[in-house]
Amino acid sequence: MTTQQMETRGLEGTGYEAVIGLEVHAQLLTRSKMFCGCGTDYFEAPPNSNVCPVCLGLPGTLPVMNREAVEKTVLTALALDCDIPPFTKFDRKNYFYPDLPKGYQISQYDLPLSRNGLLSFNIDGREVRCGITRVHLEEDTGTLKHAGDLIHEATSSLVDLNRAGVPLMEIVGEPDLRSADEAREYVVRLRQVLMYIGVNDGSMERGSLRCDANVSLRRTGAEEYGTKVEIKNMNSFRAVHRALEYEIQRQLGVLQSGGSLTQETRGWIETEGRTVSQRSKEQAHDYRYFPEPDLPPLQLDREFVERVRTRLPELPDARQRRFEQQYGLSAYDAAILTSSRDDADAYEALVDAGVPAKLGANWQMGEVTRLANAQHLALARSGLGVAGLAVLLKLLDAGTINGTVAKELLEELYVSGGDAEAVVRERGMGQVSDVDALGAIITEVIAANPKAVADFQGGKEAALQSLVGQVMKATRGRADAKLVTTLLRERIGG
Ligand SMILES: [Zn+2]
Repeated sequence: MTTQQMETRGLEGTGYEAVIGLEVHAQLLTRSKMFCGCGTDYFEAPPNSNVCPVCLGLPGTLPVMNREAVEKTVLTALALDCDIPPFTKFDRKNYFYPDLPKGYQISQYDLPLSRNGLLSFNIDGREVRCGITRVHLEEDTGTLKHAGDLIHEATSSLVDLNRAGVPLMEIVGEPDLRSADEAREYVVRLRQVLMYIGVNDGSMERGSLRCDANVSLRRTGAEEYGTKVEIKNMNSFRAVHRALEYEIQRQLGVLQSGGSLTQETRGWIETEGRTVSQRSKEQAHDYRYFPEPDLPPLQLDREFVERVRTRLPELPDARQRRFEQQYGLSAYDAAILTSSRDDADAYEALVDAGVPAKLGANWQMGEVTRLANAQHLALARSGLGVAGLAVLLKLLDAGTINGTVAKELLEELYVSGGDAEAVVRERGMGQVSDVDALGAIITEVIAANPKAVADFQGGKEAALQSLVGQVMKATRGRADAKLVTTLLRERIGG
């Protein structure tokens, strides 16, 4: 069976349903690491250059808590509607791994920073609500570079501790998701929220946002969960979807053939489109968690929490609803225009500058997005910028230029920048809507195209378009096409 076939297969008619819960790890956008002064901008740095005695776990060092990391985790918890208990503490999670220099990770176990939240999103107009079990704070590990991969035995491995100690949030979702589609949309929405509130850069390729999934199957309607399998190593939305589709069908195959599943961790092998067993799943008690003796517990007083709450911006779903009401946009358009905070800010700046809401929406979602993708350059950072685009679109709205010229100008000025109004004036690109001037050109076009005129008069509507085209050509695209159509109809009937 190919992956393609699997992607179209669900569980309908099998008597089983999937139960999926996601664990997302998100690096916090802080300047320094969780417990030391090293920076967090390690990605381009030479291996093991962004380290100090604290994050190397050398004897005699003590951790110092990063206040900004605590605030950003509280901010995230509030954005996800979580309860913030007044008392929280850190714990040691003990295990040996070469990328964990201390031999333990400082994490949170029984008293996390927040609990009982909610993330909701839409799939084809249906609202899906997924509970958030907890959002807690921990430190990231280093990274290993293997010569070889998960399947073929590595011949050697190198460790880079630049990432060790970077503040990391773990966002644990309830097992409320029932399909690979729901799982993918959950990650899409969660990433969007994290980026809106400015706590994470959303890069799944770089690994600053990582997703693990727990998935099991059970008889439809059953209360009890089946044996769950944890899937790791999915580093794109597409990988999340494909890995879950694959794993759901794999588990179904085992169950339908009378077999039983093992609780284990499986890795997603992107290039082969399958999951492979990595290790049998450990239990929490294997880690011998105990309270971190080097850090005091945290008392989060209500005043602190409320102060953090004031930093919450308007969240994507609220902004989308407001866009629909305030600007009269469809749900679809509003969702696209609010997909990132930058896009939504750009759109509101256009409208504030006097561009009509619908016109701004069409151009931003159409030509501007096309150019931004082609040039790998967002509007806000382009030469033209939001203000320049507003000038251009207002010329179009006022009828000073037509759509063809507007497109040409946008293409030309997008990267280099420039004043659309001045360019139109200097080059005489203004729309020709002078009835006398157009009338003279129309006379010539009618005289030169007797067949098209006869065709139109004989009932062929398309022939009129060809005549309009001739007039546009004669004016180098500057004629007011609507006016030309009206004038032509007046002359030759129809
Ligand atoms: Zn350090």
